[in-house]
Amino acid sequence: MFRKHKYILDKTDLRFKKEKMPLKAKVVKSLLWFAVSCILTIVYVSIFKTLFGSPKEKHLAQQLEDIKLRYSIVDRQMDNSISVLNDLRLSDDMRYRPILDMDSLPETYRKPGVGGIDHYRHLSGLMNSYLLISHMTKVDMISNMANVQKESFKSVTDRAVVWKEEMEHQPMISPVDVRFRLSDSFRFREVHPVLGTPRMHYGQDFAVPLGTDVYATGNGIVLEAGRNSGLGNYIVIDHGYGLRTTYGHLSRIRVAKGEQVKRGDLIGLSGNTGTSSGPHLHYQVNQFGQHKNPIHFFNNDITAEEYEEMIEVLSSRSK
Ligand SMILES: [Zn+2]
Repeated sequence: MFRKHKYILDKTDLRFKKEKMPLKAKVVKSLLWFAVSCILTIVYVSIFKTLFGSPKEKHLAQQLEDIKLRYSIVDRQMDNSISVLNDLRLSDDMRYRPILDMDSLPETYRKPGVGGIDHYRHLSGLMNSYLLISHMTKVDMISNMANVQKESFKSVTDRAVVWKEEMEHQPMISPVDVRFRLSDSFRFREVHPVLGTPRMHYGQDFAVPLGTDVYATGNGIVLEAGRNSGLGNYIVIDHGYGLRTTYGHLSRIRVAKGEQVKRGDLIGLSGNTGTSSGPHLHYQVNQFGQHKNPIHFFNNDITAEEYEEMIEVLSSRSK
């Protein structure tokens, strides 16, 4: 574009001589060079930045990648938390609540709306807003699930406390702690062994030696401790929840009326008093005034063999 020097022919001596440029032309030329250099520099820098970015931009881009990586790790951790909360929910619905005879929580209560996209509108204009919205949605979900589960477990725990209390009062064990032989069961007897007349037998008879320890079969209060012609020395325990147990034909009574007893407490000794044809314990369960078959209240301490034997004895007698 520009030549460095211009030569002209000096006709006087026929020699080429360097042309001297006027000052103004020199200034214009320099300015022109400067302007062109500036433009070229700007163009080069722009191309370089577009292709490679500035060091600061590169640093920011790296930071952004790091943040995205961290987000993906947190995202996985949140998914794990949701999975754990789902497991807790399954245990709650499939195990704890059925055991305690509680209904499952309604689905609508378990999964309330978590805001929806409008809830996070303030995030929508930001770069990578989809990441933020996805995370906020999961955070809200975890928070809701955890709160519902906390409340649910509280109600399950409250119910368990009541249930434990109720279970402790239920007659659940055998009233004698020896290898007993069932001498008579809950059934209609065509001939009473002593009275000789047809009569319903409302309890379970345990043929045990005289003086065998007799235990309260559940927590309760001694309602009666006395003697009558039929049961001889007898005890009635009120267990609450409409349940009462009676222990008859005792030789000794070890508790007094109004006394609080716990399951397994010694309350008397077996005997042969009252209308009895031999040493045995008469054990009876009543619920809301109705006679109940005591076999349905031996949940806790008899062995599988004893239970089988009991069923066998009962079924052979009902033939
Ligand atoms: Zn009996």
